[in-house]
Amino acid sequence: MADLYADIIVDISHEKLDKSFQYRVPETLRDKVEIGMRVAIPFGLGNKVIQGYVVGLGEECKFDPARTKELIGIGEKQGESQDRMIELAAFIKSHYGGTMIQALKTVLPARKTVKMLEHRTIVRKMDREQVLSLLGECQRKKQHAKARLLQELADQETIPYEWITSKLGVSAATIRSLENGDVLQVVSEKSFRNPVKLEDAQSHRLPLSEKQQEIVREIMGEFDRKVPGNYLIHGITGSGKTEVYLQLVEEVVARGYQAIVLIPEIALTYQTLLRFYRRFGDRVSVMNSTLSPGEKYDQCERARKGEIDVIIGPRSALFTPFPNVGLIVMDEEHEGSYKSESSPKYHAREVAMELARMHGAAVVLGSATPSLEAYYMTQKGQARLFELTERLTGGTLPRVYTVDLREELREGNRSIFSRKLQELLQDRLQRGEQTMLFLNRRGYAGFISCRACGEVMKCPHCDVSLSQHGSSTLVCHYCGYTVHKPANCPKCGSKYLMGFKAGTEQIEMKLQELLPGVRTLRMDGDTTKQKDSYEKILSAFASGEADVLIGTQMIVKGHDFPNVTLVGVLAADLSLGASDFRSGERTFQLLTQAAGRAGRGMRPGEVVIQTYQPEHYAVVHATAQDYQGFYEEEILYRELSGYPPAAHMLAVQCYGPSQNATSQLSLRLAQLVRGQVDESVPIAKRLKVIGPAPATIGKINDIFRFVLYVKSEKYDTLVQIKDLLEQELQLLQPRYESVQFDFNPLHIL
Ligand code: ADP
Ligand code: ZN
Ligand code: ZN
Repeated sequence: MADLYADIIVDISHEKLDKSFQYRVPETLRDKVEIGMRVAIPFGLGNKVIQGYVVGLGEECKFDPARTKELIGIGEKQGESQDRMIELAAFIKSHYGGTMIQALKTVLPARKTVKMLEHRTIVRKMDREQVLSLLGECQRKKQHAKARLLQELADQETIPYEWITSKLGVSAATIRSLENGDVLQVVSEKSFRNPVKLEDAQSHRLPLSEKQQEIVREIMGEFDRKVPGNYLIHGITGSGKTEVYLQLVEEVVARGYQAIVLIPEIALTYQTLLRFYRRFGDRVSVMNSTLSPGEKYDQCERARKGEIDVIIGPRSALFTPFPNVGLIVMDEEHEGSYKSESSPKYHAREVAMELARMHGAAVVLGSATPSLEAYYMTQKGQARLFELTERLTGGTLPRVYTVDLREELREGNRSIFSRKLQELLQDRLQRGEQTMLFLNRRGYAGFISCRACGEVMKCPHCDVSLSQHGSSTLVCHYCGYTVHKPANCPKCGSKYLMGFKAGTEQIEMKLQELLPGVRTLRMDGDTTKQKDSYEKILSAFASGEADVLIGTQMIVKGHDFPNVTLVGVLAADLSLGASDFRSGERTFQLLTQAAGRAGRGMRPGEVVIQTYQPEHYAVVHATAQDYQGFYEEEILYRELSGYPPAAHMLAVQCYGPSQNATSQLSLRLAQLVRGQVDESVPIAKRLKVIGPAPATIGKINDIFRFVLYVKSEKYDTLVQIKDLLEQELQLLQPRYESVQFDFNPLHIL
C-alpha cells in the first residue's frame, strides 16, 4: 500500500492559511485520520511537539520522502470552539466542494491587527418638544437631511454617528451645524458601546399573545428535554415573529447558552437592532459589512471569552466562535443572500443546521413567504411549523387587482400603465399619498413572449423558456435545443413577438409624460452604484421628497412607508419567463412582498398587478395571498420534474478563456458522470445528467461559461459525483479553466 501524506496547517489564522506542511501518516493512524482533525506533529529543527490541523490527504509526496516527518498522534475531539469551527469547515468542504483552505477562510475571521476605529455617538441636548418644533421648522424650509436627523433624535436620545452618516445619509456638515446650534453633541468613545442602557430592558418587553407564547413554550420545552429541533415560523410581516425571537433568545441566554440571529444585510436597520439592544444591552453585538476585519476579529474574541451572548448579522455571523450555542434564528429565511455566491457556495440554512447539530441547539426559521425548502421540511417531519396569521400593528391587508395586459392591448392601450393603474395614480397624487412602482427585472435578459396573447417561447423538452441569442436564435439553457426565432407567434399569429424592454428610466419618463409635475425617485442598479445611495433614496422617499418611487426588486424590502397606499407591479411575468425552475417561487415571493408594501399605515392600501399571465398559479395565489395554495402547486411541479427540494441538483460550472477548451472540459466531466449512471436502477431513481450547455450568459469578460447539471434523489450521491470530479480535475490540472460546484443552485447560470 502506498504511503499516505497529510497536509497540515500549524497556525489557524487567516493570513497564514496558505502555508501547509506535509507529514507522513503512520500505518496505525491510516484509517483514523480525517480532514479537519487536530493532530500532534514534530515541528522545526528541535522537533518540538505542537498541534496542527489536517487540511488535506493524499498519496503523493510533494518533497523528499526520506526527509518528510511523521505525525505523532491525533487529538481527541474536545468540542472547543476552534475545533468546532474546523469541523464545520470540513463539513462545508465535503458538502459544497472546493478546498479545505477556502472552507477555513470562510469560517475563520481574519486575524489582522487593524487599529480600532473610533466610534462616535450623537447625543441629544434638547428635550423632545424642542426637537419636534425644530423639526417642523426644517420641514417647512425643506431641509430634508436635517429633518431626517431630527426625526430620529426625537425618538432616541443617543444614536451611533456612523449610522446617521451612512444609513440616514446626513452629512458631517449638517451634524456640525446642529452641534453648533446646541441641538446635539458628538461624543467620542474608544470602543463601541451600544447606546441603550440595560435598565430600560424590562420596560420594553411586550406581553406575548396566546399564539406567540405557545411557540416559545413548545420550542423551549423541546430544548429543555434535550431534543432541540428545527422550526419554521410562517407569518406575515408585522405578525410578531421578531418578538418571538427576542423571547427565545432571552430564554436560551438565561440558561447559559448563546444565540446567533441571522438577518439579511438589507434588513439590518437601526430599528431592528434597537429592539435587541433594549433587551440584551451590552451582551449583544452586531456584525455587518461596515466592520473592519480588525473589528470583526475583536468581536470573535469577545464571543470566545464569553463577553457577549447574542450576535446579530448576515450569514457570516454563523461563524462566531461561541462556546455553547443554544439557538440559531434565521429571519427571512427565503432570502437569496443566505447563499454564498463564491466557492464554497454554502447555504446558511444548511450550515446552521449542521452547527446546531454539533452544539445541540435549536434552529428557528422565519418568513412571510417561506422557501420551498423550509416548507418542504415541515411537510416531511424534519421541522415543525408554526403559523402567525394576524398583523399586530393593525392596518388592513391591501386590496389586490390583477390587470390582464393582453386585454389592455386589445382595447387600444399601448401604454405601460394600465387604465386601472393610471386612475389610481392620479387619485393618490390628488390626495398627497405615495405610490411605489415596481419593475421586476429578473430574467429580463433574453426572454421572449407574444405581446398579443402572452405566449412564452418554451423548450419542447424542458418546460423552461428559451432565451434569445443574437437577433434570430432561441436557445434552451438546460439541454442546448436551438431554434430559429419565428416571425409570428406560433399560437395567435401576431407579429408582436418580443422581449419586454422597459427599464426603470423609461418608466420614469413615461410617468412624467402621463402626470406632468409628478415628483419621482428612481432606484435601480444605476442609481445605487454609490455606497449608501440605497438608504439615501429610501429615506428621501420616507420623508416625502417624492410622490412615486420607481424601482427594481430592491424596493420591496426594508423600510416601512406608512404614506404608501398604492403599489403597482408593472409586469409580473418578467420573472416567470426566466429560464429557471425557481421563477414561479420568486415571482410569488416578490408579488407577495410588493403587495405587503401597501397599507402599512392607517389608510388601506391597493395593489395593481399587471400581467400577461393572470391565470399563472404564482400570480393567482399571490393575488389571493394564499401561500398554502401556491406551495401545493409548486411542490407538485418540483416533484414531477425532479427539482429541489423534491430532489437534489448539482451544477458543475466550467469557466475558461477558450471556448473550445472550456467546452471540451465540460464534455469530459459530463462523460465521466454519465459513466456513473447505473442502468439497472429504475429511470425515476436514476442519476440524471443534463448538458453540458453554454450558460445563459455564455461569456462574461471574455471568459466562456459552460454548465452541466446532475440530478439525484440523494444529496450524498451528488457529493460522491463532486468528489469524483475533483479527483479528475486534480489529474487533469487544467491550466486556464476552472470549475465551480453549486449544490441546489438558487440561480441557473
Ligand atoms: P414581524 O417580525 O413578524 O414583522 P414584529 O415582532 O416586528 O413582527 O411585530 C410587529 C409589531 O407588533 C411590532 O411593532 C411589535 O412591537 C408589535 N408586537 C409584537 N408582539 C406583540 C404583542 N404580543 N403585543 C403587542 N404588540 C406586539
Ligand atoms: Zn400570440
Ligand atoms: Zn431544453
